[in-house]
Amino acid sequence: MKYLMKFGGTSVADARCIGLVVDILEKHHNAGDELAVVVSAQRGVTDQLIDIAEKLPTAQNCAAVPPLIAALRERHMKTLAGAAPDYAKEVGAVIEKRLASLQHILFAIYNLRELTPRSKDYVISYGERLLAPIVSAAIRQRGIPSTVLDGCEAGILTTPQHGEATALVESDARIKAKIGPLLKTEIPVVMGFMGCTEQGIVTTLGRSGSDYSASIIGAGIDADEIWIWTDVDGIMTADPRVINDARVLRSVSYIEVMELSYFGAKVMHPRSIDPAMRKKILVRVKNTFNPSNPGTMIVRNGHRDNRVVKALTYIDKVASININGAQMIGRPGVAKMIFSALADKAVNVMMITQGSSEANISLIVDESHLDAAVESLEFLVKDGIVREVTHNKDVCAVAVVGAGMAGAAGTGGRIFTALGAAGVNVMMISQGSSEANISFVVRQEDGPRAVRVLHDEFRLSEESE
Ligand code: ADP
Ligand code: ASP
Ligand code: MG
Repeated sequence: MKYLMKFGGTSVADARCIGLVVDILEKHHNAGDELAVVVSAQRGVTDQLIDIAEKLPTAQNCAAVPPLIAALRERHMKTLAGAAPDYAKEVGAVIEKRLASLQHILFAIYNLRELTPRSKDYVISYGERLLAPIVSAAIRQRGIPSTVLDGCEAGILTTPQHGEATALVESDARIKAKIGPLLKTEIPVVMGFMGCTEQGIVTTLGRSGSDYSASIIGAGIDADEIWIWTDVDGIMTADPRVINDARVLRSVSYIEVMELSYFGAKVMHPRSIDPAMRKKILVRVKNTFNPSNPGTMIVRNGHRDNRVVKALTYIDKVASININGAQMIGRPGVAKMIFSALADKAVNVMMITQGSSEANISLIVDESHLDAAVESLEFLVKDGIVREVTHNKDVCAVAVVGAGMAGAAGTGGRIFTALGAAGVNVMMISQGSSEANISFVVRQEDGPRAVRVLHDEFRLSEESE
C-alpha cells in the first residue's frame, strides 16, 4: 500500500511523541508499504511566531526576539537529542542556521516597522522548518533512509493569497515527479503548512494547513490512503472539549467533514478534503497515542444509519451584518452590489439569508473581516440604496451536520423546537446547499449550550453503528 501520513502538532510535541511516530512508520515500512510523511510544527510554535511577528512593527524595542529564539533552540535541540541522538550534530547545525535566519528576519521586521503578508508567511513557516529535519533524522536513527523537503521543494504550487493560499492542480504532476521516485527507497518528510507561488515566493495554507498539505501531497503521489494522525481517536460527534460525552464516528463522508471543518471543527483544515476527494482517496483520522484504534474513515458516502444528524460544531470568531431598508424591495442588483463590494475587499462570507420581504439581507463573516466588510458597505447608506447597515460581534454560528438530513423531513423542526425549549434564541437560520448542513446563529454565550442541547436531542453520545 502507498500511504501519505500526516502528524499534527501534539504528535510531534517532544522526543517521546516522535518516538511513537517513528514506531508507526517503521511498522508500515517493515510491512513493505510505501510512505510519505507530512509534519506540522511542534504544538504552540506557530502561535508563538504569529504573536511576535504581529507585535514587532509597533513594539518599543525588539527585546522579545532573543528569548524566543533561545526558547525555540532549547525545545528543538532537546527534542533532537532525544529523538535522533546520532544526528544531533548534523541536524543541530541545520537548526542553528535556521534560527539565525529567523532572528535576522524578525529584526528586519522590527527595523522596517512593517510586516507584509509575504514576510509574515515566511516567518510563520519556521515552525515546520525547524521540526521536519528532526523527524527525518529520527527515521534515519532507525536505519531507514529519509530526506526532508519544504512545501515548495515537494512541488506544492499555490495561488499568491498569503495566509490562505490554495494549491493549484499543476502541483499534482510536480509532486509526482519529486516525491514519487523517493518512495521506493526511503521515507520522505515534507514540511506541512506551506507552498510557494510560481515565482518561488513562500505562501502558507491557513491555520491547520498541514492537513491540507497532506491531502495535496497524497493526491500528488496517488496514495491509496491518507492518514491524519492527531491526539484523539478520530472525528467526533462534537468538540470533546465542549461535550464531554462526544463519541468517535466510525465513518463520515467528504461533504460532512467539509461542513464540519468549515464551521470550525478543529480536527481538519477546511480545504483539506478537496484534493483527496478529487482523487477519491480514502482519508483516515487516527490517534498517534492509540494507534490500534481504527479511527474515522472519510469516504465518498459515509456510513448511513438511522440517524440523520451526525455531528455538531460551532464557530465563535464570526460577526453578523444586517442590511435593512424597504428601498431594496424590487430593486434589481442590490445583492450584486453588496457581494461585489465584499469580494473587492476579500471578505469571506460564511452565511447569507434574505428576508422574503427583500427588505433585509443578513450575512455572517469572519470576525477578522468585519471592519473591511462594514467599510465596503458604507456606500449603500450614503447613496440611499438601503436604510442602515448594522453589525454584531456577539454571535456564534452553529452547524448541524449529517448527509442523511437531505430529504429527511422534520429535522429543522426538531432542531429549533429543542433550542426553543431550552430558551436558546436563534437569530438567523441557513441551510447549506449541500443539504448536509443546517446552520444557525445564536448569541456567542449560547453556542456551547446550543451544541449541548442538540447533542442530547439527537442522542449523539449513544452508539448507533
Ligand atoms: P493536530 O495538531 O493533530 O492537527 P488539532 O489540535 O489541530 O490537532 O486538532 C485536534 C483537536 O481538535 C482535538 O484534540 C480536539 O480537541 C479538537 N476537535 C474539535 N472538534 C472536534 C471533533 N468534532 N472531532 C475531533 N476533534 C475535535
Ligand atoms: N503549524 C500550522 C498551524 O499551527 C499548521 C498546522 O499545524 O497544521 O496552523
Ligand atoms: Mg490541526
